[in-house]
This record gives sequence, structure tokens and C-alpha cells, in this order.
Amino acid sequence: MTEGKKGKRNLRTGLKTGHYKRGGRPASLLRRAGRRRALQRQEGSRARVARNSLPFYPELAMAIKRIYLDYNATTPVEPSVLEAMLPYFSGDFGNASSIHTFGQRARAAVETAREQVAALLNARPQEIVFTSGGTESDNHAIFGVFASAAPAVTSSAAIPHIITSPIEHEAVLNTCQALEKQGAAVSYLPVDRAGLIDPEAVRQAIRPETVLITLMHANNELGTVQPLEEIGRIAAEADVYFHTDAVQSVGKIPVDVKALQLDLLSLSGHKFYAPKGVGALFIKGGTRVRQFLYGGHHQHGFRPGTENVPGIVGLGKAAELARLSLQSDAARIAALRDRLEQGLLARVPDAQANAVSAPRTPNTSNITFPGIEGEALIIALDLKGLACSTGAACSSGAVEPSHVLTAIGLSAPDARATIRFSLGRHTTESEIDAALEIVPAAVVQLRQLSPTYRREVSA
Ligand code: PLP
Repeated sequence: MTEGKKGKRNLRTGLKTGHYKRGGRPASLLRRAGRRRALQRQEGSRARVARNSLPFYPELAMAIKRIYLDYNATTPVEPSVLEAMLPYFSGDFGNASSIHTFGQRARAAVETAREQVAALLNARPQEIVFTSGGTESDNHAIFGVFASAAPAVTSSAAIPHIITSPIEHEAVLNTCQALEKQGAAVSYLPVDRAGLIDPEAVRQAIRPETVLITLMHANNELGTVQPLEEIGRIAAEADVYFHTDAVQSVGKIPVDVKALQLDLLSLSGHKFYAPKGVGALFIKGGTRVRQFLYGGHHQHGFRPGTENVPGIVGLGKAAELARLSLQSDAARIAALRDRLEQGLLARVPDAQANAVSAPRTPNTSNITFPGIEGEALIIALDLKGLACSTGAACSSGAVEPSHVLTAIGLSAPDARATIRFSLGRHTTESEIDAALEIVPAAVVQLRQLSPTYRREVSA
């Protein structure tokens, strides 16, 4: 065994070198080789994790220096959020429904979190229902309103009607499609080149049998922020329930359910520095929503299931942090986003930024690099240590171009050549400067391999 090397870590694998190279009995060699292969397999996913979550492999973290520009896909749990959650995994592990002290401590923590989430939205705590995330909240809002309103509508022999848009997240689109199969009529309002919905089109689409308007607040791919205040006024005048998927706006821009005249709003913790698997649905007092799950008495029996106390505590803490730091975060992140966007447009010939004419969330930039395949660029950038995304993370891997980009009028090849950069609280100026070197170089490299781009340029 090369004793000299023993104990030193291999920067690539994070393993101690020399342990499995020589010496030892065949069986232990095999075991070690198996372990090495398992660790090497883990390495790929581990290396994609943010630097500060690699406490056992500091050398690896230093060596890779990864840049994360995919905050719309998910965010790291904020250290103070994690700290707030930790006691509820062990010392304060009680079931929030138990009447003893263990349970009451958990109950108090859940109710504090409800107040924190309500405060972020200008809602009342009793209007907040905790869920497993954005997808469940969207499903509950849409199925719930439909189920409660449909019997009254169908008794008049009319078909219950929902208004939405073609650029919604799948959590809304697929729910609406499921309802169409059950006999609902759904109108998909057109969007303009920047992904904006015309409030007048909403007014015109409303019918006597319309039971719900569901339109997202901020788009996950473009960052486009819809004119919800105007749409809320129209919905209120027509006395139609109004739901928004605010998964991509909560924590990034101010969201006030009263100012927007919302009846229902969905949010998700992992998009604003809380953990995955926890979210909330705001339901304005008096809104008729059929429950979705049946079980025990939790959350007044409306959303049963033992509460995820640590997750809910994390959501509450993240909501409080967002309320306190939203303005300053937004200004800093928008400046970095603009620097990235303008830098890329200046350095990459033919690059085009999408949705720039619309109000946008401060962190999102969506850029088309004609002549490249988005997936290939993502892989090339990942190899250089930069993480970003093509369209929605939930649909990456799908071969079809993004439904959002085709809805705003991009051709299929341009939609496939489009990348989303999304910045966050931990993005630094030096990361943006590095991205401004890495991305143009990768695009040049891929374009050199692209027969179509060379043909277009020489034409
Ligand atoms: N709605 C939007 C706009 C989203 O971006 C996402 C996730 O990417 C969701 C809903 C789904 O949220 P969750 O991942 O919490 O289920």
C-alpha cells in the first residue's frame, strides 16, 4: 500500500487515495471497489449540490466552485430556516394534534408559522392551509372550487367553465385538462410575445357559467408578472372566484391577496429557501372549496394528515425572512440579472432576451441562442460548473419544446435554443462575471458543431 498517499483525499471522488489500490485480501478489495463505485455514482449528484452543503468534502467544494443559476427550480434551505426546523425533528417531535405538552409545543410552532405565512401575503392566519407544496395547492384550489360550484351550474344544464392560460405550470394545466375530461369547459387565453395576458380578454371570456379564473402570478420560465390587480377587479365585478399560482412570485416580489382581490393563492416553500414538500393554499374566508383529502381532524378536517411540523416551521421562518428582506434582495438580484442579461446579449451574436418588455420577477432571464440545442448547452455549462435550465425543471428531459415559449410565438428550433437563468439570494457578482465568460465560450463551441447555424450565418 502506498502509505504516503493513504489519508489524502482524491479531489474528484472525495475518497481517501491508496486505501483500495494495493494490499488487502481479495474480498475486502471487492468490497472497497464496490464502495468506491457507489461513491463515484453519488459524486455526480453530490457535486451538483451547493458548495455550503458539502461539509464532509470541503476540498471537493473548493475544487469545483459550482455556480448555481437555477433558483426557479429550487432554492437551498436558508441556514436560519434549518436552525428553526431542527428542534422539531427530535426534542420537540410531538404530534401537533396531541393534547399533551409535546403536542402543544408542536401546535404552537405550527400556528406561529401560519401567522408568518399570512403576514407575508396580507392574509389572516385562519385563511392559510398547509399543504405538501405548489402542486397540491393548485390541485386543491381548482378541483375544490370546481367540485363545490359544478352541481349548481350543471343543474341549470350549462357546462361549468374555467378560464386559464396556455403558459401555466403543469400543476394547473394538467388539472384543467383532467376537469375537461370530466365535462368542464376550459378557455385558454392567448398571451402576447412577452407572455402577458390582456385583462380585457379575461373580461370577455367570462360567461354566466364561469366558476373559476386561474392565472399564474409570475411565469416560471420567463419571469413575466401578470396584471393580477386589474384581473382581480374584473373577477370581483363578475363575482367569479379568482385563483393564482404564485409559486414563482412569493418571496420574490410583494404579494398582497387583498390588493390583488384573490380568493385563492398557491405557494411552495422550496422556491423561497424553505424545504421541499411543504407549501400553502390561501383561501379567502367564505370561499366555497370542496375538500380534497379525507382523513382525521387536522387543519379542521379540511386538509387532513399529521402536520409536517418541521417543514411548516421552515415555511414560516422563510416567509418571515422574505417579508423582511424582499425589497433589498430584489434590488440587488435585479441588478445582477440585468448585468448578466446585458453582458450575454453584448457578447453572444444573435442572442435574444425574451419577455423583457413585460414586468418581470427580478431574478429571471430567458435567452434564446439561435443555432444551439438547449439541452446540449446545459450539459456543456454543467461540465464547466454552471447550473441553469431549459424551461421548467419539472419538464426537462421532455423532447418537445417548452409550451410556454411556443405560446409566446417562438419557433420550435428557437424554443429549443432557449435557456433560463434564475438568480437568488446567494448569487454573487463574481459568479455573474464567471458566467459571462463561460456561457459565450460554450455557445461558440456548440455553434461550431452546428450545421444549421453555419448555414444560416453563411446564407
Ligand atoms: N407552479 C409553478 C409556477 C412552479 O414553478 C412549480 C414548480 O416548479 C409548481 C407550481 C409546483 O410546485 P411544487 O414543486 O411545490 O409542487
